[in-house]
Amino acid sequence: MSSITELIHSIPVDPLTGAISVPIYQTSTFVQDAPGVNKGYDYSRSNNPTRAVLEQLIAKLEKGSTGLAFASGLAAIDCVIKLLKTGDEIVAVDDIYGGAFRLFGSVYEQFGIKVHYVDTSDTNKVFEAITAKTKLIWLETPTNPTLKISDIAAIAKIAKASNALLCVDNTFATPALQTPLVLGADIVVHSATKYLGGHSDLIAGLLVTKDPTLGAKLRFYQNACGNILGPFDSWLTIRGIETLHLRIRQHCSTALEVAEWLEQHPLVDKVYYPGLKTHPNHVIATQQAKGYGGIISFSLKEDTEAAAIELVKHTGLFKLAESLGGIKSLISHPANMTHKSIPADKRRANGVVDSLLRLSIGLEEAEDLIEDLEQAFQKTTNTKNNKVYETATF
Ligand SMILES: *Cc1c(COP(=O)(O)O)cnc(C)c1O
Repeated sequence: MSSITELIHSIPVDPLTGAISVPIYQTSTFVQDAPGVNKGYDYSRSNNPTRAVLEQLIAKLEKGSTGLAFASGLAAIDCVIKLLKTGDEIVAVDDIYGGAFRLFGSVYEQFGIKVHYVDTSDTNKVFEAITAKTKLIWLETPTNPTLKISDIAAIAKIAKASNALLCVDNTFATPALQTPLVLGADIVVHSATKYLGGHSDLIAGLLVTKDPTLGAKLRFYQNACGNILGPFDSWLTIRGIETLHLRIRQHCSTALEVAEWLEQHPLVDKVYYPGLKTHPNHVIATQQAKGYGGIISFSLKEDTEAAAIELVKHTGLFKLAESLGGIKSLISHPANMTHKSIPADKRRANGVVDSLLRLSIGLEEAEDLIEDLEQAFQKTTNTKNNKVYETATF
């Protein structure tokens, strides 16, 4: 059976009423038959039937054993770090999501957990960074915003050999394209806020483990710390996931068209998209994923902040906003938005130059998106020509 058919039919029909849509169990507590005798649910922090459907669904999609749903992607990441103790070390991807960087550095470092950041797209650098204290390797692949790809299977072997867990943030690829647990990872985390939710209408996080014992430990922390996803947002996430494969297929094909168009544009310098043969990690991207995703970054020949800001002023379909993975296309300027807190030198060294722009390709038609970008480029050159004209006349 195809994975799409399987996904659609793995969302259960309500056993109580036959409702074809998963019911929203908006309840805090459950009436018991006798003290301690219940129907599998006693209190919604510990477990809730709507959340349970979502947790089983993501475990199935990621081909793991235990799924857990949290109030945000960062809450899911936070739960994984609770596996560590003072003195433990993490080896993490250097262009990690900013919120994870803040959580590791500003919260967990004060508890004596140290993080080494390396370019994980070079497997040797991961190997070299491992010490006897390394308990966790943290990957994002593709990364944000330069879409570097790390070799999950090779790094999983290093993790195994050094008794460290491998956790992959699979937000950008989603299980429709890439299943890290199959490649040897131990834990997968998601910001379901992005592609899994898919409609820019909620904040949610998910976590899946391969090993049920590790899953039980994380479930204990989920309940002990209380960072759970509510029933309504669980339902919205299920509803988003129902169309994940279809949406991702469209995001991928449109993104490739837009990336190829950008690559030949006279005002564009570099285009970052793993589906382009010019992408440095194109080969490994093709090996470990079924597609290249919906995110594209590009820099301008005129590498200035002003040139980038001028361009985003003129896009119409591409809305200027943080986040990604929704049905409407978004454009962002990382240097001034998601990556503003990173010192300029470090930011530029990671490829996040002053003119870099990131696109989240939505579900509009490719030709409309290309037309929108083209008219924005034309307006920037018109503005520039007018400026020249104005200086000349005065
Ligand atoms: C957005 C994002 C997160 C954080 O998720 P929230 O739902 O915003 O808490 C983590 N990792 C990646 C790759 C993200 O894009």
